[in-house]
Amino acid sequence: MSDLRVDAVFLDLDSTILDESYVIAASIAACKVIAAEHPELDAAALARANYEAWNEYWPEIELGWVLGNVSTDELRHETWHRTLARFGASSEELIARASEVHHEFELAEYLPFDDVVPLIEELRRRGIKVVVITNGASDVQREKLEVLGLTDFVDGVIVSGELGIEKPDPRIFGAALAVAGVAADRAVHVGDSLRSDVGGALASGITAVWLNREDAVPGPDDPAPDLEVASLAELGALLGGRG
Ligand SMILES: [Mg+2]
Repeated sequence: MSDLRVDAVFLDLDSTILDESYVIAASIAACKVIAAEHPELDAAALARANYEAWNEYWPEIELGWVLGNVSTDELRHETWHRTLARFGASSEELIARASEVHHEFELAEYLPFDDVVPLIEELRRRGIKVVVITNGASDVQREKLEVLGLTDFVDGVIVSGELGIEKPDPRIFGAALAVAGVAADRAVHVGDSLRSDVGGALASGITAVWLNREDAVPGPDDPAPDLEVASLAELGALLGGRG
């Protein structure tokens, strides 16, 4: 593969920049605290209920959350309402406490993958613009970038919940091109989702790079990326040619 010559690199956030392995850990940690404060509740049963409540609620709310109609505070509150209702314990006070504790553990667990900061440092050094394009509510996506120390380390952040437009809609990629001030054929977009990231980039005339960290196998109907990499370090090497 010859070197990619680009003026801008767009990066997805969740599972591209942010290691999402915190999700389960934060829930389990929160359940332990709540169970310790309420001996009638069992930590493991609570964690299982929280997981089930989330899986039940998420398909109902995902689109509204991504388009900015539902905040992450509301999402967290409703998930804990449903979790605690299974134990007949859904007082407003307890829902608020569980939501607060859960949020604190999430904040403590936000970490970037090891290859994120080196890539952005290299791109910045070479004058290549970096813009984050993420599907999600404004509150939590901005918070993640702030905690990771990336807000002022990139040239722009485009959040679906702030525009009411989600990847793979080309308009969200158009917003990133405008922020970076580059043409589509001088940009690459990198993300872990074939549907949202690769599909959207292809529809926008932007070079589509699929970040496949887990060695996933694409489905028959998934869009085919221009390029597949297993890490951002691999992408960095492809962008390594000077010029
Ligand atoms: Mg992602």
